[in-house]
Amino acid sequence: MTQARDTLRRVGVDPPPSLSPSAIASFTQCPLAFKYSYVHRLPEPPSPWTSKGTLVHRALERLLDRPAPERTVAHALADLGAATADLAGHPEFTGLTLTDAEWERFHADAERLVRRYFELEDPTTVTPVGLELKLEARVGGVRVRGVIDRLELDADGELVITDYKTGSVPGERFEAKSLAGVQMYALLCEQTFGRRPARVQLYYLSKPQAIVATPTDQVLTGVTRRTVAIRTAIDGACARDDFRPSPSRLCDFCAFVAFCPAHGGDPAAAEEVAATIGR
Ligand code: SF4
Repeated sequence: MTQARDTLRRVGVDPPPSLSPSAIASFTQCPLAFKYSYVHRLPEPPSPWTSKGTLVHRALERLLDRPAPERTVAHALADLGAATADLAGHPEFTGLTLTDAEWERFHADAERLVRRYFELEDPTTVTPVGLELKLEARVGGVRVRGVIDRLELDADGELVITDYKTGSVPGERFEAKSLAGVQMYALLCEQTFGRRPARVQLYYLSKPQAIVATPTDQVLTGVTRRTVAIRTAIDGACARDDFRPSPSRLCDFCAFVAFCPAHGGDPAAAEEVAATIGR
């Protein structure tokens, strides 16, 4: 395997040593965007929606880190204020160019998302055992890493994984696809702690709506097979340095349009930036 990877390096581009659920999703959505993001690791300017997601995640992390009786709306809003201060100097925020009115809307949206969280559950009943938990394990021989928003114990002492989402709720047809990341986290959990979570859940704060699923043998076998297949496809694309653009609605949010031939951009410019930053 190591020798094969060394060969890949000589004739193509370096494959990333491990994958995350977001890297896997990126490759399946658009191989070219994957290359820019995960192979060349080109800098991406921050966007209001990703920065807002970071802010709300930080506020909920602070809230769930409190003793249960303190997990009130008032404390959550205080935590949102503290998270805003924590992140004020972070490039995701210093790099945002918003007008005063846009900043006002940004913070109002963040507050609305935090308030809506309380419509999904009573946080005083949650027993977290890990917040923003970093895990890395082998899935079907593939190195996979991820950060779990929240790992908790339910009333029966079973593990549960919760992932907060600040974007829009997917249609029913796309629910399984949206759950792929948390099902992967269930596998990482099983590999790391020797226990499979009883449930995985996505909390869409904007509606708000919860999507809950059970990580069954059948589902996790499917996730493992798919991970191995995607790793093979990524290694092949890296060996040939062959990453095609795959235009979709996601192009509206893509940081690499200027480098994308599907939009009249220049891929050679991306290679120049990569060479400049040593990738
Ligand atoms: S603009 Fe669209 S097609 Fe081009 S790299 Fe980005 S996501 Fe892919």
